Amino acid sequence: MALNFELDKLEKELKKRKPKRVLVQLAEGIKQNAAEIAKVFEKLGIEIIFSGETAWGGCSIALQEAEALKANLIVHFGHAKFINVKFPVLYVEVKDELNLEPILKKSLSHLKKFKAIGLSYSIQHRHDIEKVKIFFESHGKKVALSKKIGFAAHEGHVIGCEYGGLKAIQKDVDAFVILGNRFHSMGAAIAVEKPVILLDVYNDEITNTDGIRNKILKQRAISIQKLKDAKNVGIIIEIKPGQRFGSPKYLVDKLKEKGKNPIVITMNEMTPEKIMNFYHIDAFIELACPRIAVDDFAKYPKPILTFKEALVALEIKSWEDFLNQGAV
Ligand code: SF4
Repeated sequence: MALNFELDKLEKELKKRKPKRVLVQLAEGIKQNAAEIAKVFEKLGIEIIFSGETAWGGCSIALQEAEALKANLIVHFGHAKFINVKFPVLYVEVKDELNLEPILKKSLSHLKKFKAIGLSYSIQHRHDIEKVKIFFESHGKKVALSKKIGFAAHEGHVIGCEYGGLKAIQKDVDAFVILGNRFHSMGAAIAVEKPVILLDVYNDEITNTDGIRNKILKQRAISIQKLKDAKNVGIIIEIKPGQRFGSPKYLVDKLKEKGKNPIVITMNEMTPEKIMNFYHIDAFIELACPRIAVDDFAKYPKPILTFKEALVALEIKSWEDFLNQGAV
């Protein structure tokens, strides 16, 4: 990894904004770079406090921490802007400067049968995407970047809870190529019905996610059935401003109409340990990151569903609509 935090640019921005105390959030993979980042702030005489809480995505804005600490600014490294909040936040997307040529060349044999490809990237590869597009075009491919839709910050940008931009170009492509990691390609595999090829530059691997879609959807259908059978239901809401996928009040009303006993539980971040003591709950609906239910279901002792899945269990949406809208 050759990470570029563009600290010169940050320094200029800080000089302009003149904050006195800054709360810095670092994505999980770059927490090890805290000391290097601290220097810029110290040089300018700005008090800096790092958040030690998890920052899985641009959704995890540490508003409560910043307010409690009376910080004037949050600087969030490693993700793109996700939502607007009523607090000054500066996002530093962070570039990973890599030589992509070897993996691009290697990918051609995996892409032989596909003429038109949809291309998406995780944020640290944004600066390279034009070169990647030109590479594929020079090898006879027709390339379309996924659309900037919903939570995606840029054309081609993909995040784990937003695949609308890929779905929008699905009919025009034979396959999708994701420059990112397994997390992004797995989400894409559930959301779209075309083959998804992951270029994993960190492990120097190219993976076709064939078969994953059906496996995951089968598991999700089992969880949906378990919510249908459940009597006592916990609705988990997190306090992170970007992680509010669906209305708890709406779900409470709908669950009651079906004769169930719902309760609403708030958490800073949900974990299996925290929900363990709610013994009497038969199934949970989590309104935080939808990928917790989809990716981490095996870690939880009870069924965990997303908002969209709950709508299917409550017969408000059909399974077909659920699939058409992207499943994540
Ligand atoms: S909600 Fe989940 S998938 Fe979406 S940005 Fe946040 S951590 Fe990533």
